[in-house]
Amino acid sequence: MTNSSNRVVIIGLDGMPYRLMKDLAESGVMRHTKAIIDEGLFRPMQSSIPEISSVSWASIITGAAPGYHGIYGFTDVHPGTYRMCFPNYNDLKMPPFWQHDGIGRSVIINVPFTFPAYRLDGVLISGFVALDLERATYPPSLIPKLKEMDYQIDVDSSRGHQSMDLFLADLDKTLHARIAAYQYLWDKEDWQTFMLVFTGTDRLGHFLWDAYEDKAHQYHAAFLDHLRQIDEVIGEIRGRMGDDEPVILISDHGMELSEADVQVNFLLKEQGFLKFKNNPPRSLADIDPGTRAFALDPGRIYISEKGKYPEGRVNPEDRAILIDELKSCFESLSADGKKAVERIYLKEEIYEGPQFDNAPDMVLMSRQGINFKAGLRATELYGKGVFTGKHTQPDAFFLTSYPSADILPDEICVSDIVGIMAKMRETQGKR
Ligand SMILES: [Zn+2]
Repeated sequence: MTNSSNRVVIIGLDGMPYRLMKDLAESGVMRHTKAIIDEGLFRPMQSSIPEISSVSWASIITGAAPGYHGIYGFTDVHPGTYRMCFPNYNDLKMPPFWQHDGIGRSVIINVPFTFPAYRLDGVLISGFVALDLERATYPPSLIPKLKEMDYQIDVDSSRGHQSMDLFLADLDKTLHARIAAYQYLWDKEDWQTFMLVFTGTDRLGHFLWDAYEDKAHQYHAAFLDHLRQIDEVIGEIRGRMGDDEPVILISDHGMELSEADVQVNFLLKEQGFLKFKNNPPRSLADIDPGTRAFALDPGRIYISEKGKYPEGRVNPEDRAILIDELKSCFESLSADGKKAVERIYLKEEIYEGPQFDNAPDMVLMSRQGINFKAGLRATELYGKGVFTGKHTQPDAFFLTSYPSADILPDEICVSDIVGIMAKMRETQGKR
């Protein structure tokens, strides 16, 4: 056990929106969370743009925006090619806070986008996307213990496509092993920072958001029960910390009911912006030289600029005209008689920093209920997959037991967490 006096705990709930947290705290489902809300500070928090877990967690752990840490999505394109890649922890261009000087020892469990695990002063078990437990665990001496606990990094989402009962059983099993791992490391390790992220919350939201909204739904109680179990852990952790040792709770993005998927590449193809050499295309590598723009998930738009992409056709001086054309194309897009695009961000408006050149040229923010997708082989503009929940950008949450609001910016965003934590440590013991 540690006897240090400047410990901080961060508990992450992936995909947990502010208003769900508020609802469940007020209705008594999350009573320990309610107690922290009563003693501390509870605010909505802006997610990253786009509101994708890998981007948002990269901002949370580095304290920086995508233009600095370099992560813009689960997928990206290799510079100078149309080859798709899947960035991981090694591609992060800024160090996570636990690598900063003077932070001391850290235990980091299940933070998304920390695979493969590498050396740190402490312990790290990667969160999704993690390909195997061996490379997801530092130090490796911990691997046998995790295997003994039947620890698994992520819920097996394929279960959700088979049967909801199988999915919920796996969700429960994953949660219990995660709790066992946290309890084991809490007692065994001496640490200054303990960070534990629950990611089943995001999977639950995707598969069963409808069950949360509909009290008569057969899985409504199961939805609440998962969060009640997490609330018990929150209560246990709060109880293990001293009164002036801050506990921080955060999510990386929010969630809402998904009404329709809109296939952005299908639209670009239909409108003549995107062409493929083969139909259906096998990959981005099948992009035809006649292409002027293409999309990556969820609504990231890239312009095929000359010199930037193979046989790119768009001259820098024509970029502004193309952007206007794309804008009017997206602005006229409707779903159920309403505009599908809430807002179009240009690269220059939302990004800056050394990784600016790799940023998407535009990012589409959907209106409520619309889910942008950038599949290459979609055969229809609109669709509806199995998921009933989709990510939202403006309503992640921030909650802390720390009572003084003077450490918070007026509007909190995911890249503020590292700075907020530093301020808490500065004032610890002085309060
Ligand atoms: Zn998600």
